[in-house]
Amino acid sequence: MTERVLVLGAGAGGTMVANRLDRELGGLAEVVVLDRTPTHRYQPAFYLHPFGHADIDAHTRDVRDYLRADVRFREATVTGIDPGERMVATGDGSVEYDRLVVALGHETVAGPWAGEPHVYPFYRPEGARALEETLSRLVGGTDGTDAETPVAADGGVATTGAEPSLPTPTAERPLRVVVTEPEGSVSCSGAPAKAALLAEDYLTAHDVPCAVTLAGPDDHVFGTGKKARYDEELADVFDTRGVTYEGGFVVDGVADQRVESEDGQTIEYDLYLPVSPQRCPAVLTDESPLTAASDEGYVAVDPETMRHRTADRVYALGDCTDAPTSKTAAAARKQAAALADNLTADVTGRAYESRYDGFAACPLLTEEGKAILAGYDYDGAKFPAVESRVSWLADVEAIPRLYWQVWLRGYLLGV
Ligand SMILES: Cc1cc2nc3c(=O)[nH]c(=O)nc-3n(C[C@H](O)[C@H](O)[C@H](O)COP(=O)(O)OP(=O)(O)OC[C@H]3O[C@@H](n4cnc5c(N)ncnc54)[C@H](O)[C@@H]3O)c2cc1C
Repeated sequence: MTERVLVLGAGAGGTMVANRLDRELGGLAEVVVLDRTPTHRYQPAFYLHPFGHADIDAHTRDVRDYLRADVRFREATVTGIDPGERMVATGDGSVEYDRLVVALGHETVAGPWAGEPHVYPFYRPEGARALEETLSRLVGGTDGTDAETPVAADGGVATTGAEPSLPTPTAERPLRVVVTEPEGSVSCSGAPAKAALLAEDYLTAHDVPCAVTLAGPDDHVFGTGKKARYDEELADVFDTRGVTYEGGFVVDGVADQRVESEDGQTIEYDLYLPVSPQRCPAVLTDESPLTAASDEGYVAVDPETMRHRTADRVYALGDCTDAPTSKTAAAARKQAAALADNLTADVTGRAYESRYDGFAACPLLTEEGKAILAGYDYDGAKFPAVESRVSWLADVEAIPRLYWQVWLRGYLLGV
């Protein structure tokens, strides 16, 4: 009898793994991908779009155009998972499976800035678009005020309302741009630093005097251990460019164009670019047993095989797992290769095991034409910490093309 492999989530990890599984399993299994929407977004475009380095619309596509002909797409919202019954509950009825792949990504949580003016939570497309509009008006000679200015909020809601005027930036009174990182795990932990540096680069290139600050809970701008060499290089770039990093800053409140930390520090802003807090989707933590064995509150996987640590016939990849690596599409890609190989071996009874090596990569864009390519696996750092044009071209030109045309279609995932 043909098995049904049900993949939850048609984001980066789910789409890559579904296509590879369909190829590897051939007619041995039916591959079904379930997502609440067929709209697929290349998420790195969220920090590129505001500064004119990519267009969100060009990186928003129908995932059904990227699934192999035999992979079935089902549009539904997952509301619960029962591995004992091999059943997934959705808003549109229950779906049975023989093997389950969980790839539901990260869920953003609303921050304490709802309704505040000139706040741009750029980890959501609405925030990124609103920031691009404000910056365009600013460098176009108006002050960022517009009765129809969208005020971005978390959760995909965009309201409209009047924004107060931005001051005319001068050398004495530069435009204050503040980026903050939340506590806990975030997708692409380098993106906040990229946003801060790209903002400074963009404003300086347009002759807008600015003072840019990145604030976050950690003492290091990028990290320690296997990230240490990239952190050092990045800290030098921050110093050279006059971009400030404030460590030990946990956002507690936002009001009157001030961000306040839990210990009472305040940073004043004209433009505020918060990274929204993120978590494993509530449907997994609250409506499934799949996170119970994880101290981090994510789906508990074997960090090399991507099999679930306790639930039989369940596998997971991407941002919703507790694999101890950076939550990036680069990691999801290599996880997809190992997962597909291992699931195929389980279906066919082949004595074969593929291992994910912990690889994750993050091109740290520092200014137009320059980036530091950070990459590491479970053993440590992989690339030299060098600011180069090649790394910029890789991130802005090569990787988006590879993502859409090669990786998403399930090819070259393990290399
Ligand atoms: C601003 C930003 C910049 C980034 N930059 C980079 C970068 O430069 N390099 C890099 O490698 N990575 C980057 N990333 C991270 C990368 O995008 C993620 O790591 C990757 O998308 C994770 O893939 P995933 O499949 O786990 O989750 P996602 O791609 O987020 O997919 C999750 C899918 O699950 C669906 N879903 C969720 N809940 C439900 C439900 N209840 N029912 C049905 N469907 C549901 C969603 O609709 C979505 O399609 C960035 C992310 C962001 C936000």
